[in-house]
Amino acid sequence: MFWLVFVNAKKMIILSGGTGTPKLLVGLKQVFQEEELNIIVNTAEDVWVSGNLVCPDVDSVIYALAGQIDEDKWWGVKDDSFFTHTTLKRFDYVEQMMIGDKDRATHIIRSELLRRGETLTKTASSLATRFGLTANILPMTDDVASVSTQIITPEEKLHFQEFWIAKSGEPEVLDVLFNGIETVQPSKGVKDVLSSDAGEDIVLIGPSNPITSIGPILSMDGVRQMLTHKKVVAVSPIVGHNPVSGPAGKFMQAKGFEVSPYGVYRCYEDFLDVLLIDESDEWLADKEEVEVVKTDIIIRDDADSKELAMFIQELIGAM
Ligand code: GDP
Repeated sequence: MFWLVFVNAKKMIILSGGTGTPKLLVGLKQVFQEEELNIIVNTAEDVWVSGNLVCPDVDSVIYALAGQIDEDKWWGVKDDSFFTHTTLKRFDYVEQMMIGDKDRATHIIRSELLRRGETLTKTASSLATRFGLTANILPMTDDVASVSTQIITPEEKLHFQEFWIAKSGEPEVLDVLFNGIETVQPSKGVKDVLSSDAGEDIVLIGPSNPITSIGPILSMDGVRQMLTHKKVVAVSPIVGHNPVSGPAGKFMQAKGFEVSPYGVYRCYEDFLDVLLIDESDEWLADKEEVEVVKTDIIIRDDADSKELAMFIQELIGAM
């Protein structure tokens, strides 16, 4: 009984984007007590569409945990329809993102709560409750849609969504900027979980894009500093010299990082304790720099997610 209380005293703080980490959350929810999960989520891709605030990463976290995410695309709600989006198109009103009808309901509720004066954090917890969730979902800031990820290409500056959706991620990338990040403060909830001096708290950086998903969270005032007081484990989103999916490779290169698990380590080197890399990977760097642990880190289905979550549970239990 005493042991159980001791184990539960460890708080699990997860840093998340909208694809790789939500995939892992499916398993983490089964292995840990859901209410023990404190998930800090990137908001640098949040955007107002047709009068409603879309928070792509927060939405994916909610949908994944609720078992409702469209697992083919890893965004939006499974089996959703697009009647409103296509009707608007027929009326020559082209939305900058494909928004499903069920997905839009989430955005409407969030935006209505914001208009009533709720914080973004409160809207996330209110939505989580509506989806039957007990995890503590924390948008990285309560400054609404105040950061915007810009991709600098040789020809132009593109919003992240324009680069990834309209241009299919094809242009060369010279730099990645987080417009507005200097003025943004971490939310109170984020500060509270990261600044508590419970030394046994574990921070897990999920397998998310280190530049555009985790980068904005780490760029906020004081966050990197707070992480130096925590035990931090990261799961690499890079296997070999390629991301498992998405544009992380191009972005890491543009920021001067090698596209490899070693490059991922370099993104987090000032606070990282353990890096989980794929069993197929060579680790060429000096092993003194960080503890490197190998396992299968590719999540093909829910069973893989649970297996990786169990591996992480065992790993952090020994820390
Ligand atoms: P975004 O918000 O959609 O960019 O999503 P994330 O940043 O959360 O996730 C994108 C990252 O997840 C990419 O860099 C992928 O390489 C990584 N990723 C996707 N699926 C997996 C997986 O099964 N295993 C690992 N290790 N990484 C993955």
